[in-house]
Amino acid sequence: MKPGVRTSVAQFMVALWRRRPYAMIESLGTMVLASLTEGVGLLILAPMLSLAGVSLGAGGLDAIASWLTSLIAAIGLTPSLPVVLSLTVAILALRTVLVQVQSMRASALARSIVQEERDRLFRAVVCTPWPHFVRLRGADLVHALTELTDRVDYAVRDVLRLLADVLTVSVSVAISLRVSWQVTLLVGVAGVTLLAILRVVRAPGRPEGELLIARAEALFRTASDTVVGMKVVKGYGAESRTAETFASANELYGYSYRAVDTVRARAAIVLGLGSAVLLTAMMYVALAVLHLAPAASLLLLAMYTRLVPRVATAQQSWHHLNEAMASWDAVQRLSAECEQNAEAIAPASPLQPRAGAPHVRFEDVTFRYEGAEHFALDAVSFDIPAGELTAILGPSGSGKTTALDLLVMLLHPDRGQIIADGKPLDAAATATWRSSIGLLPQDVLLFPGTVRENLEWASPGADDAHLRDALTAADATFVYELPRQLDTPIGDRGALLSGGERQRLALARALLRRPTLLVLDEATSALDASAEARVLETLSGLLPAITIVMVSHRPSVLGHASHLVRLERGRVIAAGGSERL
Ligand code: ADP
Ligand code: MG
Repeated sequence: MKPGVRTSVAQFMVALWRRRPYAMIESLGTMVLASLTEGVGLLILAPMLSLAGVSLGAGGLDAIASWLTSLIAAIGLTPSLPVVLSLTVAILALRTVLVQVQSMRASALARSIVQEERDRLFRAVVCTPWPHFVRLRGADLVHALTELTDRVDYAVRDVLRLLADVLTVSVSVAISLRVSWQVTLLVGVAGVTLLAILRVVRAPGRPEGELLIARAEALFRTASDTVVGMKVVKGYGAESRTAETFASANELYGYSYRAVDTVRARAAIVLGLGSAVLLTAMMYVALAVLHLAPAASLLLLAMYTRLVPRVATAQQSWHHLNEAMASWDAVQRLSAECEQNAEAIAPASPLQPRAGAPHVRFEDVTFRYEGAEHFALDAVSFDIPAGELTAILGPSGSGKTTALDLLVMLLHPDRGQIIADGKPLDAAATATWRSSIGLLPQDVLLFPGTVRENLEWASPGADDAHLRDALTAADATFVYELPRQLDTPIGDRGALLSGGERQRLALARALLRRPTLLVLDEATSALDASAEARVLETLSGLLPAITIVMVSHRPSVLGHASHLVRLERGRVIAAGGSERL
């Protein structure tokens, strides 16, 4: 966890209020009503005791009893014991309903905030520029999008619970003051002391929350790295080593939870002992020092016995809230980080692609990866003629993939510009430009699911005839020999297909978009010579309606290219028509 912004509970409450004022009013309103019914439920004990023949003595309690009795008479009821008991039942029932309604409202509010945060983070992640994205860890993102955002739920609920507790305590204190201010003062002082002790016993929560996040991240990373790299893990016989790494991350994670539990238990013991001493002392002062009527003392005892657990839960909510604030901050930080320089993305409905095969010119394009010593591309200039097949050649690390990433606007030049049909490719052009591109990256990326799902992902709503055309053009008709043809599942990342089959399926997917610019990064590397020749034949057939740029080492590709660009250490060493080079 990077250190950074720390939202205080108060700031969080303000943020919640700003986002959902009506839901907050609704939730707090139900809470006030629930607290009031709780107060009335307590007060009604006074006339009940009086009707049962218990002497209330002179003082606050007696006044409350007679006021309530006259209130009952005023609404046209006889203040008899059965009536008062029925009213008590009605009030308790009302309170139960209100508490449930409140909890449902709180839950709806919490879930809507979680949903909003999760959507915001996901959108921020997909809109973040490529160079930033590659620096993020996939496992951390998944963790943030699932578990961390879920913990925001606790933060919202705890805020509401805390406010409810504060309200209930305030109502009870008001009643207690009316019955005996001396006892209230005593309990107040003792209560504040108890809370002060609890603060010492129980850590503030946030560091625990942060530690929990760090350890959960470690656990997620280990799991996801292993899942992604299972072939290497098995190939190196590293199963037990990996399992041990996982087990120790898991143990640390569990340990964090246990540490939290220990602190909780310690706090509960302090609170239990403290409140027992507090209640006994209160009874002693009420009966022996202040000589309150037994009925008044009993009412206070009944009230405080219910109140002390509320104070305990309030303390717990406060603690949880601080723990959850760490998750809230982590999610906010990640969203904000990704939203910085967010790029304009294509709308959900497909854009009208550019018409015609583009001519592209790299003009003095310089690019250096953040933190890298050398330029990946150093003032390179070359043309990609319209409607031709251009091959980019060069040793490994010479900047071929970088050039293609710049071409598809995943990266942006530090200096110089890329000009398409006379117009520089700038931020405003991103979405339209990309919509006209068919891209086959160096590592073929297929999604889990069926052949059809992978194809339709690129071109929603394409019919079977279109799919067949694309598959034929990509020499991928092997699909029709699969057990369920188009509906055959291809496994995670296409793991159930061979490397060459994956490449041909990916090519079909790219062609389905009817791109005007087809960009292939060593995309035929896994094909045998005859399959490659067939693919190149169909690709050549697409010319000159589209422009094709291909990175390859194969001499066979050079035969089909009419234009060549040779790179070495980030510089163009030769470019031009293939017949001249
Ligand atoms: P090629 O595709 O020709 O093999 P690349 O364009 O992938 O080469 O890489 C060009 C140079 O940039 C290499 O020196 C490589 O190490 C470096 N490079 C590539 N990607 C990154 C990155 N994300 N961060 C830093 N350096 C990078
Ligand atoms: Mg490369």
